[in-house]
Amino acid sequence: MAKLIIEPRLRGFICTTAHPIGCRKIVEEQASRARRCPFRGPTSVLVIGASTGYGLASRVAAAFGAGAATCGVFFERPAEGERTASAGWYNTAAFESLAGEEGLLVRNVNGDAFSTEIKKKTIDVLRSDFPPVDLVIYSLAAPRRTDPAGVTHRSVLKPIGSPFYGKTVQTDSGAVREVALEPATEEEIAGTVAVMGGADWLLWMEALRKADVLAEGAKAIAYGYVGPELTWPIYRFGTIGRAKEDLEATVEKIDRILAPLGGKAYISINKAVVTQASAAIPVVPLYISLLFKLMKEEGSHEDCQDQMIRLFREGLYCDRPLPDGAVDDSGRIRIDGRELKPALQEKVIQLWPTLDTGNLFVLTDFTGYRSDFLRLFGFGVGGIDYDDAVESNVPLKGLP
Ligand code: NAD
Repeated sequence: MAKLIIEPRLRGFICTTAHPIGCRKIVEEQASRARRCPFRGPTSVLVIGASTGYGLASRVAAAFGAGAATCGVFFERPAEGERTASAGWYNTAAFESLAGEEGLLVRNVNGDAFSTEIKKKTIDVLRSDFPPVDLVIYSLAAPRRTDPAGVTHRSVLKPIGSPFYGKTVQTDSGAVREVALEPATEEEIAGTVAVMGGADWLLWMEALRKADVLAEGAKAIAYGYVGPELTWPIYRFGTIGRAKEDLEATVEKIDRILAPLGGKAYISINKAVVTQASAAIPVVPLYISLLFKLMKEEGSHEDCQDQMIRLFREGLYCDRPLPDGAVDDSGRIRIDGRELKPALQEKVIQLWPTLDTGNLFVLTDFTGYRSDFLRLFGFGVGGIDYDDAVESNVPLKGLP
């Protein structure tokens, strides 16, 4: 047991501390939003990458919106001595306790999802006391992956073909500065595809099918991003975009795995939101700050939780025919339409060249960005006295 006064400790785009009560309050708030939007959806869900960002929001929507049993896989750190647990650990502890109060089945597996060992461990959990899985959500964002042959691949965020010159904002200092990134080497491109592409998703689906833990009609979904032209040199046409192309191409292979069950695989193209992963991408934090200002002004702003509630209710489990534009020509579910609305993006293009450190707080919602960033770690949450010492050692019960 360790009672600590916990403050945010920022290092670049990372925060090395997290606040258990703050994380809990945020998950509570996410859960109550999901409860207010019930839908007839999945009953038994495996979420790979379940502890933060889009994966956590998906888990919350499935559990509190549809009453689903959820098994979450993630890579998080428990508290140790003076060191707090990671935010994803506290989020999961909060999720587990709230779902438990509602009698929902919760199982967790903490470890490297890329490894064969964690896939086996997860399958053991699913086999022992979990209903056949009717939805698999793949929501990993990771800097490296060791494949089953023992080779470690690294993911980089770089342009392909030519250098990238643009601007970005430093989350800690608020300084807007120019960035220049050399194009990725072939090895770096291949490394990023190996980490963030579809290879591991396919391995998961093959293993789950072989173990016979999937239900009739099971669906699988992974998340992608397209974004506006402004971000294309670093995102869509960069190394991460190449990996996302590979992820999208994997849908066909997974469709073949699921076909005998009458199931199907999907990609959902989501909106840009503040997460630990997006904070690491050059340009994106500044773009998000501007985007949020414009979307909040026109009342169309959404966070991870809003997006996942909408994905389930208006996309994956919609009982009406989907409206025009909900699925694109490549068969991807699109919940990023509000972000990419032409009139809004014209404003982005107009304002972008004028952004600098001096006008950051006027022209963009950097205040909101920074507040969302701190909230990822449980800081800046109303009703918490951050001068109080709190128990940092929070157990996770649902681990095998
Ligand atoms: P995130 O950093 O919030 O979440 C990543 C999750 O992956 C966490 O639960 C973490 O524990 C888990 N994880 C990482 N490495 C792991 C490992 N080795 N083993 C087990 N678990 C591991 O990221 P996010 O932004 O929510 O991204 C999730 C997906 O959504 C990604 O595919 C991302 O490209 C996509 N996406 C994100 C955005 C955005 O703006 N953030 C937009 C569109 C799509």
